[in-house]
Order: sequence, then C-alpha cells, then structure tokens
Amino acid sequence: MARLVMKFGGTSVADIERIRNVARHVKREVDAGHEVAVVVSAMSGKTNELVAWCRDASPMHDAREYDAVVASGEQVTSGLLAIVLQGMGITARSWQGWQLPLYTDGTHASARIKGLNGEELIKRFKERKEVAVIAGFQGINQETGRISTLGRGGSDTSAVAVAAAVHADRCDIYTDVDGVYTTDPRIVPKAQRLEAVAFEEMLEMASLGAKVLQVRSVELAMTQKVRLFVRSSFDAPDAPQVDNKGRPPGTLICDEEEIVENQIVTGIAFSKDEAQIALREVADKPGVAAAIFGPLAAAHINVDMIVQNVSADGKKTDITFTVPVAEFAKAKATIEKAKSKIGFASMEGYSDVVKVSVIGVGMRSHAGVAATAFRSLAEKGINIRVISTSEIKISILIDAAYTELAVRTLHSVYGLDG
Ligand code: ADP
Ligand code: ASP
Ligand code: MG
Repeated sequence: MARLVMKFGGTSVADIERIRNVARHVKREVDAGHEVAVVVSAMSGKTNELVAWCRDASPMHDAREYDAVVASGEQVTSGLLAIVLQGMGITARSWQGWQLPLYTDGTHASARIKGLNGEELIKRFKERKEVAVIAGFQGINQETGRISTLGRGGSDTSAVAVAAAVHADRCDIYTDVDGVYTTDPRIVPKAQRLEAVAFEEMLEMASLGAKVLQVRSVELAMTQKVRLFVRSSFDAPDAPQVDNKGRPPGTLICDEEEIVENQIVTGIAFSKDEAQIALREVADKPGVAAAIFGPLAAAHINVDMIVQNVSADGKKTDITFTVPVAEFAKAKATIEKAKSKIGFASMEGYSDVVKVSVIGVGMRSHAGVAATAFRSLAEKGINIRVISTSEIKISILIDAAYTELAVRTLHSVYGLDG
C-alpha cells in the first residue's frame, strides 16, 4: 500500500466525460489499496475566462476580489469529481483551499504557500478510506482569512504541497502530454520524452519557458524531496499501467544522483515573455548601473539579462537588458523618469524578441556547449541580441520571428531529435 497524490490539469478535467476518465484513474489506485489525495485544476479555458471577466469589470481591479473570482474554477471541478467518485462507490469528499486550510501569504494573485497540515487528511485515509479531492490553485491568506490563489499553473504547486503534507510516496502529475520532453512537443514534433530529469534542470526548464510544471512546484518538490512523475491522463485508465520499464510512460523528476545517464544537454526551452531595452551612450563610470537598476527594482520590475559593452574611449558605453514583456511600458517610463540621474543619449526598446535556452546539468563538466549554439544559429543567419549563461544553462535573445527555426536548430545540433 502506498500513499499517492494525483494531480489533473485543465485539459484532463475539461468536461464531464473527461472527469469520468479521471475518476477511473483514481479508482484504479484505490482498488489497488492505495490512499489517495487528488488535486484538480479548473476546466481548461475556465481560468482564462474568469481572468478576462475581472479585466472587463475593471482593468485596475482589487487582487483580493480577483482571487475570489478565479478560485471558483477549481471549486467546480473538485465538487464534480467527488460526485463522480461517489457514484462509483468510492468514499470521497471535496476540499477547498480554505477548508484544508492551505495557508498563504498576502500576495494575492500569486500567493506563496506558508503552511499546510495534512493530519486531518491522513486521519480520514485511515479511518474512512476517504479520497480527498482538493481544489488546486487556491488557499487562504493567513493574516486576513481571504481567499488567495497561487499564480497561473498553481495547481502543480498545490499538489506538491499536499504530497509533502501527507508524506506521500508519489506525486503523479497527469497532464495532456505523456511526460516532459526535450522541448515543447507542440513546436518540435521530433522532441523526445525524457525518462528522468533532475530537479535543478526542471527548475531551469520551467523558469525559462517550459510551462509543463509551475516553477514554484519544482522549487517546493526540490526542497521537500517530493519525487514527481509526469504522465498523461489520456492513457487508458484501466489498462495495465506498465511499459517495458515496469511503469507507465512518463518522466520522473528526481535528485540528480538518481539519474544514471546524463546527457550534456537535456532540453531546449523558449519564452516570449521578454522585452529588450538598450541605453545608448551611458557614462562609463561607477554608480551608473545602480542609477539604472535601482529605480527598476524599486518599481518591482524584474531585470533578467544584462549586457554592458566595454567602452572604446573609456567615457561612454551601451547597456542592454531585458524585462518581462508585461512590464515593458512601465520599465521604459521608469528609465525615462530617471534619465537625468542616469545620463544617456537614447533609449531603444524591442518587444518582438524571444529567449531561447539550452539546459543540462552535463554542461558543468563540458566545455564548448555555448560555442556550438552560437555557431549553429549563425549558420542559419539568426542574429543574437543578448546572451546570458549560468552553470547549467545558456540563454540567447533573438528576434521572435526565428523562434521555431532556432529551437529546431539547437534541438538537432545537440542530438536531441528523435
Ligand atoms: P495542465 O493543464 O495539465 O497543467 P499545461 O498546459 O499547464 O497542462 O502543461 C502541459 C503543456 O506544456 C503541454 O501541452 C505542452 O505543450 C507544454 N510544454 C512546454 N514545454 C514542454 C516540455 N518540455 N515537455 C512537455 N510539455 C511541454
Ligand atoms: N487553473 C489555474 C490556471 O489555469 C491553475 C492550474 O491549472 O494549475 O492557471
Ligand atoms: Mg499546468
């Protein structure tokens, strides 16, 4: 007997038929004698619709009321799944975030989890054999008692938090793909499913654009040591759940030490969420970087890539950096306001850019990985705007028009094509 958390995303609960399919996955595990907590997302498209309604009602809406609205999608699916499970003869009840309670901080619309006690759920597993059907994405602000939500994609994080709280043996993330791929399979049909990915790599992939898991869910899984298994909810629920490796098709996210075969490059991610700002002819003297990035930080704008050119004459230089595209206008206005303090000739901005990243823990011990990327992109005539690197990733900013070509080129040059 094991204790499992099973998380189902929006496409997996998109209508009643799909919810019945999810219930069959749950029944299979219950029949096998396991204790089960299920975490569900809203029906696909529902959260987008709710977000749009809030914007329609008022573009400058109160984030606490936004949370009251958008949390409702998960309330519906958790109740519906409990109803279907009960109809199958399984003891089940739904739980809203405030009922658990899953406590968060007060950052409404992207709240962080502060605490979750799993004792009541465990008691019910033992005493009543009751399946907990938990509304993902939502919690309760510990200070005020108001409903909060965990940011888009937050049901993944709910699932990991539940798994940690009930000391689950496994946290299975059921989605619309049968695992984590070398890159988004919707863009590169040759992408291949990865057998296992290290937490650190998954963290980079998720932060750099692979939306298959919310970044915070990977962070939490890494610190709480919750192993994740990403698999498809469209696999036949009642068929034998094994392939030739003794488990269903999917990807295990685990500690690096557990992974036997390490590739140099594990995957390619991309994000259209960036915008580039270049400041021309900035004085090359101490304090200038502080004059630029200080006001941006004060305005809560996250600066990502930064390049400062070496000045030819020791007097003037160019500084280029990127900000989230949603903050582009605000960032430009902030810089414009600080212009007299910074001192620059002109500001240029581009929002039609994409950040393509090459990720792999194997890079730590291999030289020349970046050079390969630069060469292969040059051969395709793709101009590189900004580069940034860390121990296990290289990120390259290019024109958005070349996204697919760049991702496919890099995927192939690192031997990832299937
Ligand atoms: P859910 O609704 O189940 O949470 P998401 O839409 O959030 O599902 O995440 C699954 C999607 O993530 C896939 O349909 C796929 O297009 C996308 N994706 C992006 N990068 C990857 C990747 N490297 N591997 C697998 N899926 C990816
Ligand atoms: N329903 C929420 C969203 O669409 C949370 C989730 O699905 O993980 O962002
Ligand atoms: Mg998701």
